[in-house]
Amino acid sequence: MLGNSIKENIAEVEKIIDEECSKAGRNRNEVTLIAVSKTKPVEMLQEAYDAGCRDFGENKVQELVDKYEVLPKDIRWHMIGHLQRNKVKYIVDKVYMIHSVDSLRLAEEISKEAVKKRVDVNILIEVNVANEETKFGVSCEEAKKLVMDIAKLPNLKVKGLMTIAPFVENAEENRDIFKKLNKLAVDIAREKVDNIFMETLSMGMSGDYPVAVSEGATYVRVGTSIFGIRKGI
Ligand SMILES: *Cc1c(COP(=O)(O)O)cnc(C)c1O
Repeated sequence: MLGNSIKENIAEVEKIIDEECSKAGRNRNEVTLIAVSKTKPVEMLQEAYDAGCRDFGENKVQELVDKYEVLPKDIRWHMIGHLQRNKVKYIVDKVYMIHSVDSLRLAEEISKEAVKKRVDVNILIEVNVANEETKFGVSCEEAKKLVMDIAKLPNLKVKGLMTIAPFVENAEENRDIFKKLNKLAVDIAREKVDNIFMETLSMGMSGDYPVAVSEGATYVRVGTSIFGIRKGI
């Protein structure tokens, strides 16, 4: 696959998402591909845009803002990386969704800036399902309380959950992680709290997105399989 054009890579990923949806009896419209473009130059993002991509994922505030300034305005920008509170103000009116909310203090900051800028911000709660020490995110046990606390804050919409599954050789090893995130979202949705919409599951990356789709992902975040390998991160 690598060595192909970005357009061909996207077509290949889309085809696999299609197949997984049919196998799982899911409607293809339920799943959106986020092209994870971190570290990649805007020319490559433009190529993905020309191939039809409108959802892009970045993990650094400065990089997201720089790309936002020069690329078409109908792009939906997804902040998928760890977010520091002092940087929230730079992106709150530029992002379509923040996937990496893992504390009440961060949510309060996003809410405060959103009120100031008079925008609503879609957020996901990042859950560290596998309890990996090296990863951000709350545990499954903490997630429900955090969601309930955040639901009270103005100008925020809690749209669902996100997880970064462990790096594994065989994607099947992550099936349980995806199942658990899905189940957690269903559990939280049952509480029927105002302002909580557990309709979004952001899970699956280049190594395991087919499994994530079969377990209910509504966003898959795919970088390497579209843009090729990255230097460093
Ligand atoms: C980099 C990154 C991805 C994409 O990873 P690939 O393995 O290149 O597809 C997805 N999600 C998050 C949070 C990331 O930081």
